[in-house]
Amino acid sequence: MPGLAPRSQDRHPFHVTNLQLHQTHDPGFLLSSWERLARAAGLRSKVLTRLGGEKILFLESPGTASPVYLSSGIHGDEVAAAWGLLAWAEENQKRLSQGRFLIFPCMNPHGFRQNTRTDYRGLDINRRFHLARDPLTGPWRRLIRQSPPSLGLCLHEDYDSQGCYVYELGGQDARLASRCLAASASHLPTDPRKQIDGRRARHGIIHRKTIPQNLTGIPEAVALWQLGCATTLTFETPSEAGFQERVQAHARFIAEALS
Ligand SMILES: [Zn+2]
Repeated sequence: MPGLAPRSQDRHPFHVTNLQLHQTHDPGFLLSSWERLARAAGLRSKVLTRLGGEKILFLESPGTASPVYLSSGIHGDEVAAAWGLLAWAEENQKRLSQGRFLIFPCMNPHGFRQNTRTDYRGLDINRRFHLARDPLTGPWRRLIRQSPPSLGLCLHEDYDSQGCYVYELGGQDARLASRCLAASASHLPTDPRKQIDGRRARHGIIHRKTIPQNLTGIPEAVALWQLGCATTLTFETPSEAGFQERVQAHARFIAEALS
């Protein structure tokens, strides 16, 4: 089977080394790629915890400065986000070596393998980030408290979206989210709806300066913000679009956010 390497460097400038189509739901391939990249870029590869027989890996730059936080793979049926993050990282090893990053490539390896939103317990992890005693989000909260990130990018996909959109929480740079969406629009259009997920949207951006009421649980981005991260962007691509375009949109989004 041919790999997913781009036919045209212009059209698909980001790609993951040796990724084959049948491996897009293989957390083992994803995490071994990250471990190899971490060694090359001088990042520390650490195990947050072990759950359901699987390690929850994260990567961390040495140093004490406030990190940039990057995460994907919370929902296992949103795999292009995880490969987009890896594709961006493979193109930006020098950046990874020189900056300070905290990266969670896949918090839900069971769901990633099974193509399910929920984790090995049948739970939606992204409604549990307020729980200090949860075996996953408890250790995560302790880690974030030690050194709150300056910027958080949480990468997701949405099966019924009509294009790419962003939840922005906090936000010191009012134009950051729109710049990032403009970059991703070179591969996938921006969601035109004025209401997304029951919330008011403008040009694909759902902006919040306060924590939304009526949440059924606390998502990662909100917990990051509560724990001191000034700006979080949650990026969503339409999961019914083509895989390669979704990967490119995520990588473009990250590249612009960190430019
Ligand atoms: Zn998601």
